[in-house]
Amino acid sequence: MKILRNKNLKNHNTLGLNVFAKYYASTTNKAELSALLRNTQYSGLPRMVLGAGSNVLFTSDYDGFVIHPAMSEIEVTSEDDNDMFIRVGAGVVWDDLVKYTVDKGWGGLENLSWIPGCVGAAPVQNIGAYGAEAKDTITDVEYTDITSGEEFMIKNGDCRFGYRDSVFKRELKSRTIITYVSFKLSKVPLINSNYADVSQALLGFDCPTLQNLRETIIDIRKRKLPDPAEVGNVGSFFKNPVVSEGVANSISAANPTLKLFPATTGFCKIPAAWLIEQCGFKGKRYGNVGVHSNQPLVLLAFEGAKGDELIKLSDMIRKSVFEKFNVEIEPEVNIY
Ligand SMILES: Cc1cc2nc3c(=O)[nH]c(=O)nc-3n(C[C@H](O)[C@H](O)[C@H](O)COP(=O)(O)OP(=O)(O)OC[C@H]3O[C@@H](n4cnc5c(N)ncnc54)[C@H](O)[C@@H]3O)c2cc1C
Repeated sequence: MKILRNKNLKNHNTLGLNVFAKYYASTTNKAELSALLRNTQYSGLPRMVLGAGSNVLFTSDYDGFVIHPAMSEIEVTSEDDNDMFIRVGAGVVWDDLVKYTVDKGWGGLENLSWIPGCVGAAPVQNIGAYGAEAKDTITDVEYTDITSGEEFMIKNGDCRFGYRDSVFKRELKSRTIITYVSFKLSKVPLINSNYADVSQALLGFDCPTLQNLRETIIDIRKRKLPDPAEVGNVGSFFKNPVVSEGVANSISAANPTLKLFPATTGFCKIPAAWLIEQCGFKGKRYGNVGVHSNQPLVLLAFEGAKGDELIKLSDMIRKSVFEKFNVEIEPEVNIY
């Protein structure tokens, strides 16, 4: 394992922000990781975990140790008549895993096709798209304590998964390095095409396969979302706010174009994209940053953008949405 000093992270965050880490190391197994964490030479420094950097915003250089878990195995741990059980290294590219499982005919991850990032980050915000979430298939998560180097395993039921949420964003925030994630996948998969865009696109297939579903979702995503290789972004910058039915209905009564989504009993999700668009931000550019012209939930970082500029834009949007609708929208992105 190489420990790098003053490592440029421009190619390690999808916003393309030109920031540096004081120290950086990539570790391919648990023993190496524990040894690094116990190395007293670096013990006084702040530490953070970086996967593929597709959900982080650096406001400045990182004056500490950036650790990239690069465990790369995909192993079958057991199977029964209905299900396959697999254990996957944190460093595996998420979409490589989805492709692998779809190629094998194992169902469960296909709706999460083409989400950028590494497997280790999937439980952190319980990634979700097109009617599926990582929590639906994760069975347990192995992690190393970022300070002590001790190893733990936590079951799905204790991960407190919620909408873009988990214990790793709450009690265990900044305290864990996820090393392996285990999944239960179906040998007799059902096609989940509840989303209008997906069901519409699948109409042309008599009996759609996992592969058809994956390709459909990739097509939709490529059309709707900007490619970070072309313009810096982290996908959705904000979470959709969850508000009481009363609040949602009063906004909806005054705005018949608003489409609400169900949340837990008595609550509704309002699309943050709609709120942002109503405040006039869609397609606007401010210096080196801006709001996407098709999907206002996505903030853009053009060449030369700084994290602070994105924070300023985000604050401006949040204030404006609050003033107009009395609804708070929170960033989904992790800010450092
Ligand atoms: C174009 C685009 C589209 C996107 N679409 C979606 C979508 O549809 N649904 C969705 O949910 N997300 C989406 N995202 C967000 C992002 O892809 C996910 O959040 C992804 O899981 C982040 O993975 P990463 O490896 O890049 O994590 P990073 O950005 O590197 O890290 C994200 C956070 O997780 C922590 N973390 C990362 N790895 C570990 C680990 N091994 N152990 C402990 N903590 C860790 C980091 O410290 C950080 O706080 C999108 C992003 C982009 C750029």
